[in-house]
Amino acid sequence: MGQYDLPDAGGHFGPYGGMYVAETLVAALEELKVEYARARNDPAFWAEYRHELKYYVGRPSPIYHARRWSERLGGAQIYLKREDLNHTGAHKINNTIGQALLARRMGKRRVIAETGAGQHGVASATVAARYGMECVVYMGADDVKRQSPNVYRMKLLGATVVPVSSGSRTLKDALNEAMRDWVTNVDSTFYILGTAAGPHPYPMLVRDFQAIIGEECKQQMPELTGRQPDVVVACVGGGSNAIGIFYPYIDVDGVRLVGVEAAGDGIASGRHAAPLAAGRPGVLHGFNGYLMQDANGLVMETHSVSAGLDYPGVGPEHCYLKDSGRAEYDSVTDDEALAAFHDCCHLEGIIPALESSHALAWAARTAPAMSRDQVILVNLSGRGDKDINTVAALSGITL
Ligand SMILES: *Cc1c(COP(=O)(O)O)cnc(C)c1O
Repeated sequence: MGQYDLPDAGGHFGPYGGMYVAETLVAALEELKVEYARARNDPAFWAEYRHELKYYVGRPSPIYHARRWSERLGGAQIYLKREDLNHTGAHKINNTIGQALLARRMGKRRVIAETGAGQHGVASATVAARYGMECVVYMGADDVKRQSPNVYRMKLLGATVVPVSSGSRTLKDALNEAMRDWVTNVDSTFYILGTAAGPHPYPMLVRDFQAIIGEECKQQMPELTGRQPDVVVACVGGGSNAIGIFYPYIDVDGVRLVGVEAAGDGIASGRHAAPLAAGRPGVLHGFNGYLMQDANGLVMETHSVSAGLDYPGVGPEHCYLKDSGRAEYDSVTDDEALAAFHDCCHLEGIIPALESSHALAWAARTAPAMSRDQVILVNLSGRGDKDINTVAALSGITL
């Protein structure tokens, strides 16, 4: 592959991406495109972004050698990029800081967001408080129930949380509702999109804001191990933590990039959230990409133990990286993710997010077949405190 330089001016990654939205949103997206192009070339913008990441988020996040777990597995050494240690407990804050700084540049005093697990809602509410903006968060009614601590967190931070009861009452429906709000209030409002999906320019700008993860890894891994890792692995919901750690490695030969989708009850069961494994290209939420759809093209309901992976689509850059072969995509079931969750707790003293547990499970499955001097770098996208009710309930425990 030559020098990697995507998306093109229209927001395309090969056949994927683009800007498939109603007339009313085109002007707003064009305005965002122009403003982001200016910010992208403005060293002062990136200087402030870096300053915020250092003093507010706590970056750089460390990389940690999971020594006991690696020993137990008897193969490759597993290293964890600790995005769980960021302020608000996940990688999401890298992106919300970037978008809030853009909103401020554009003079918007109101921000809206959609959220699944609640992590992006919390990160949005956090930056809204930090920069003195009004914040409204749309969340599927079922997610409001299964992530109640995050709902209260958003309220504590001063945000308004709007439960969405339409459709499957999860992330997909929250996203529709957020887009509806944006159409109505486009002059005053900045839409902080939570993953590397949606219409152009979102997949590009979210990637750029999350690329700090991979940039740090590229510097930290040689310091720790004398070289770059053999494999970089991350879970894939919409794809932001994965593209964030992959992107700086795309041009680095010899580093395998592996994205892990949620197989739920198993791909064959149909109850999963794995569009790259079992979907086909289609348009949803303003972009073209692999999508879980039935024979009639209707978007299918998804299932995953992890609310943050429960989305029927996936960002366009991952669709391109899959087709081009530069990245590989695999999947992990609920049961495998839960086993990895418990192993990480017991062997490393780290409670991982259920989303991240999918990437951990892939590493645990793969490491034994590799040699002891090989290295798997896992993006530990978030901490699992938000998931303890879910895990307890699955073990028959009521907290
Ligand atoms: C939201 C979330 C994800 C999934 O979103 P991506 O955009 O695919 O990264 C993964 N891990 C954690 C901890 C999350 O909060």
